Amino acid sequence: MINKKNILKHKPLIVAGPCSVSSKEQIFDIASKVKDAGAHLLRAQLWKPRTKPNSFQGVGRKGIPWIKELKEKVEIPIAMEVVAKEQVNLIREIADLYWIGARNMQNYELLKEVGKNGKPVILKRGLISTVGEWIGAADYIGREKVILCERGIRTGADSMKFTLDLNSALVAKHDFKMPVIVDPSHSAGRRDMVPQLAYSAIAAGLDGIVIETHVRPDLELVDKEQTISVDVFKKTVKKVKELYEVVNH
Ligand code: PEP
Ligand code: MN
Repeated sequence: MINKKNILKHKPLIVAGPCSVSSKEQIFDIASKVKDAGAHLLRAQLWKPRTKPNSFQGVGRKGIPWIKELKEKVEIPIAMEVVAKEQVNLIREIADLYWIGARNMQNYELLKEVGKNGKPVILKRGLISTVGEWIGAADYIGREKVILCERGIRTGADSMKFTLDLNSALVAKHDFKMPVIVDPSHSAGRRDMVPQLAYSAIAAGLDGIVIETHVRPDLELVDKEQTISVDVFKKTVKKVKELYEVVNH
């Protein structure tokens, strides 16, 4: 069984996959390719919290059998987002890690529900949350199960989609002794800047990265503008690993 300790043996931890699962073929194709390129965990989101209600909301429970089959055939652990309490039980068999998105960081009933079992949880930082609020959210789940994920915050700077706040990520890691991974995709909002933000996170000494990756990024239904190709992902992972060695040894 995957637990926080054994998943964090991957140094740095590399998480990749599409923003959202859209078909069985799509997720099978991406899963095997990102695994070959060095990913330790697949992001496989069946439900998507979207800003607008008429945007694609994810395939939902229809995708559960696809992921079941994928786990047998591709053998890569799955990190899956839940946006509602009832989904926690629904995906218990297929999710190795639960995932709480930025917009749900303070959905305390949802946090309590994912904390009720032993699985590790990736907890993304809210769009304007302080480190104290982020750690408070981790405590609702149970700090020992949580891997924090910095994904950029809203600031006065409008140069990219969000501002990657490595300062807070470092405080969470060093003052609160929490593992922190970084999502350069949502901070950048544009695919050409994703590798650079990933390198800056690793250079800062953080524990891993989460990158939206697709075999054909322009076909992705959600966040395609920030989704990188498997080829770029492969090159990025190579450098990320080299940088990690330089910084940590
Ligand atoms: C995502 O990971 O696809 C996502 C929507 O991220 P966030 O919750 O950080 O906005
Ligand atoms: Mn996304």
